[in-house]
Amino acid sequence: MPKIDLHSHSTISDGSYTPAELVTYAASQGVEIMALTDHDDVGGLDQARVVAEGLGMSLINGVEISVTWNKRTIHIVGLRVDPTYPELLAGLENIRAGRLTRAAAIAAELDKAGISGSLEGSMAYAKERIISRTHFARFLVAQGHAKDVKTVFKKFLVKGKPGHVSHQWADMSEAIGWIRRSGGVAVLAHPGRYDIGKTTMHGLFAAFKEAGGVAVEVVSGSHTVDQYRIFAEYARLYELQASAGSDYHGPTHNFFDMGRLPPLPSGCVPVWQDWPELERF
Ligand code: AMP
Ligand code: MN
Ligand code: MN
Ligand code: MN
Repeated sequence: MPKIDLHSHSTISDGSYTPAELVTYAASQGVEIMALTDHDDVGGLDQARVVAEGLGMSLINGVEISVTWNKRTIHIVGLRVDPTYPELLAGLENIRAGRLTRAAAIAAELDKAGISGSLEGSMAYAKERIISRTHFARFLVAQGHAKDVKTVFKKFLVKGKPGHVSHQWADMSEAIGWIRRSGGVAVLAHPGRYDIGKTTMHGLFAAFKEAGGVAVEVVSGSHTVDQYRIFAEYARLYELQASAGSDYHGPTHNFFDMGRLPPLPSGCVPVWQDWPELERF
């Protein structure tokens, strides 16, 4: 079985390695098939592909789309998308524009809390077309407001804390439609990360499946070992395939490293079961 990692981030969104550096790092960790899944942008895939080909790796075209379902923020990973598909590109561009508006609102909230200059300050960390809370977090750490990014997400930028704003992302079923029509498969990202009860979780899985979702991240850098088992069971119940991804953001993040994912629990149907990239193994 080749080493597969289907969730990772570069400087195109909020990762700390460029697409080229990320692919090089993944190869050094023994990863043989990887997806680059930047938040709301497919702009890193060309660069990643060139480097992957040079290293004999398979690069899967991916994206992680921020959506709203039932007033909650959910992440949908698209795998094997066509990064030139106009409807997908237009949808992602819209989300990125919304991120800019949200960033200004976050900065206004931080202003109220006595932290000024956060828009310009955070923009300096955003290398490409995406401004995210991670960039605000890096700014807040640099300004001495928290000791690390993880602490920022306890003291700021989350519900009830300074710098929080609610935001309307893309509609979940619309985003799944862009992925499907561009030839890709929609994967429910890290369900264990959502702070929702069992009833709502079942509602989410039912809505995801109904909208054309195909797979769920069972093994994720954001999941505990217990959650691998729990979401393998959800996959079975909703007849979804299973995916696996580290959600790697770079060496300075607390996320899981690349190349260390355990195999899927037995009984899971891998999302990659029919992929041509597997044939050489
Ligand atoms: P955004 O999409 O702009 O709301 O930013 C969400 C990003 O913030 C996620 O993709 C993570 O990279 C990062 N993030 C969220 N929560 C945490 C946390 N507790 N620790 C570190 N990073 C986090
Ligand atoms: Mn992120
Ligand atoms: Mn995510
Ligand atoms: Mn991610």
